[in-house]
Amino acid sequence: MAVSSESHAHEAGEPKRRAGAIAGPVLSLINELSKLPTIGPKTAARLVFYLLNRPRNEAQALADAIVAVKDRVQICSRCFSITEEDPCPFCTDPRRDSAVICVVAEAKDIFALERTSAYSGRYHVLGGLISPMDGIGPAQLHVKELVERIGSEQPREIILATNPNAEGEATAIYLARLLAPLGVSVTRLAYGLPIGGDLDYADEVTLAKALEGRRAL
Ligand code: ZN
Repeated sequence: MAVSSESHAHEAGEPKRRAGAIAGPVLSLINELSKLPTIGPKTAARLVFYLLNRPRNEAQALADAIVAVKDRVQICSRCFSITEEDPCPFCTDPRRDSAVICVVAEAKDIFALERTSAYSGRYHVLGGLISPMDGIGPAQLHVKELVERIGSEQPREIILATNPNAEGEATAIYLARLLAPLGVSVTRLAYGLPIGGDLDYADEVTLAKALEGRRAL
């Protein structure tokens, strides 16, 4: 079925008043897509009308890919990145430098750093940042496991690549103090990243420069 997006554009903008006239599956998909971050009802409607104009196999491929990330992706027991195999390729690839561990808040930050092609060491995902107001302290993060890895893997350097915002800074300062007695060099990403921003949204050049300019804490 082909539906012109132009003819429905005004309806999509007024979902409440015209809801009764719009097909149930269309409303249902708009509702599901609207739950995603950065997707409002208007964008959701645009996506649904786009999909209506695409072949069925494309919609099936999208649906399959969404289900596959839930069925086939797990957490690496060593670095807490997301992976199909445990331990993950970041932990097992012999071409990666095992003497450097880059500490990030979330697995999505790894993908931002990998896009720079400026880093080829290991990773460690904290699973969040220290945020007393949200009740998140070191015990809620993979801090203990990081200390254990430093003991067993004996890295030369730990790069603290937490976001350059209040929680990211507090977490980096906490970790720098905690790790200081362990005899490992602790560095922090240099500024050049937008303050209050998100690693995930930084462009490759800014992030690569920040990696190059990392400094001892
Ligand atoms: Zn791993």
